[in-house]
Amino acid sequence: MDDSNADGPAIEANRGEAGPAPAGGRPNGADLLIVGGDVVTMNPRREVLVGGAVAVRGQVITEVGSAAELAARHRGAAVIDAAGCVVTPGMVNAHQHLTGDPLIRSCIPDLLPPGASIFEWSVPAHGAHTGDDDELSALLSSVENLANGVTTVVEAGTVAHPDRAVAGMEAAGIRGTMGTWGWDIEQGPFAAGADEVLARQAAVLDAHPPGGLVEGWVTLVGHDLASDELLDGAADLARDRGTGLTMHMSPTSSDPERYLARTGRRPLVHLDALGVLGPHLLIGHGVWLDDAEVELVLATGTAVAYCPWAYLRLGQGVTGQGRHAEITERGGRVALGCDASNAGDTCDILRAAALAAGIARDARVDPERFGAHTAFELATVAGAAAIGMGDRIGSIAPGKQADLVVHDTSSISWTPRGETVLQLVWGTDGRSVRDVVVAGRPVVRDGVCVTVDLDDLRDRAVEAQRSLLARAGLEIPRLWPHIDCH
Ligand SMILES: [Zn+2]
Repeated sequence: MDDSNADGPAIEANRGEAGPAPAGGRPNGADLLIVGGDVVTMNPRREVLVGGAVAVRGQVITEVGSAAELAARHRGAAVIDAAGCVVTPGMVNAHQHLTGDPLIRSCIPDLLPPGASIFEWSVPAHGAHTGDDDELSALLSSVENLANGVTTVVEAGTVAHPDRAVAGMEAAGIRGTMGTWGWDIEQGPFAAGADEVLARQAAVLDAHPPGGLVEGWVTLVGHDLASDELLDGAADLARDRGTGLTMHMSPTSSDPERYLARTGRRPLVHLDALGVLGPHLLIGHGVWLDDAEVELVLATGTAVAYCPWAYLRLGQGVTGQGRHAEITERGGRVALGCDASNAGDTCDILRAAALAAGIARDARVDPERFGAHTAFELATVAGAAAIGMGDRIGSIAPGKQADLVVHDTSSISWTPRGETVLQLVWGTDGRSVRDVVVAGRPVVRDGVCVTVDLDDLRDRAVEAQRSLLARAGLEIPRLWPHIDCH
């Protein structure tokens, strides 16, 4: 880890001092100013401040206003010059597997029957992960998320060594939540009885309490891979500790079929009967929901993490079955996610936002609803609310955490400038991200993650992949012949 560039070469300090001042040096002053550009605040009025500025002290946004006024008032602050840029809140990725897939990205074949990618590839890869792999994998994914303007990540619930994965997230400097692998099926890596699974979950909550950059959540694998006892206990644990609970459910027709066979009820109807649904619960996917399940999601305030790239990539039927646009428009809690590095692939919430809007409009043959602005709400303020962090992140306002993204608009793809949000969602993606600040700390400068030695990260990832595939007994498939011409 190399912090030497953490303040970045392009931060200009008005008084010749790079980086935030020591605490207490300026009692009423900002440490950091992001000056100029169009500030997409995502405040309740959805104001975009043209020629705006954001003042940060410590981890928190203290003022949002005109560039000229804030620059004059905070002369001692370090400055990120965002003139000509677009400044947005950091984006929220509500379903991301930080381990398992990142080290074997683009290794799982495309043309597999349903379920094979998980049980023949992902699960063996997870089973072969060491603690070192978990930390490296989480670091790799966190760096990619940050570089694409994602500042908060909800780990999706398949981590064997949570303390190591948290170390990877903290080294990168990303905000997020962490749980550990939770299923009580008879076989499979990290399986255990319900009591032991719940004890492991509680240990993660103890080790990573609320208020830290990474906080513990209760995480189950979900699907039909948990007993009623485990589902019940997980919901109680999350409620008792005031944390979130996340699990996978119904990305395909498989979960409804299995729940109907086992319980006589569809999945969310069964979870409701157990008392598991509620505002503490974030369901990953929820693609195959029937009318009654949609009503339960809305009535209980259960949140949904929507990962459109994964469903398209895996051919899971979202265009015909997905109800996410309807849930959003009826006031439900929906966030966007990027899922896994072999399903969703790029950790880029702007790509997910464009797809969410495109699917909503195309599936209903209705271009008059669910446009770029709705999609960008899911990426920011609505996504933050869906994961229970709406009081801390998701918009640029005094008192909120200073999670901020500067999008460079000097490229040809931004030229000439059009309507800001249309161009953000339809016209670009994470490649335009220039600078990222998390909790007041600059972590990406000039498009490069500055908290990490990237050359070292690349070298270690290449070696870890080779070792991991060998231990898991997996080999990268080559559909077309690759001819060695060395
Ligand atoms: Zn997932």
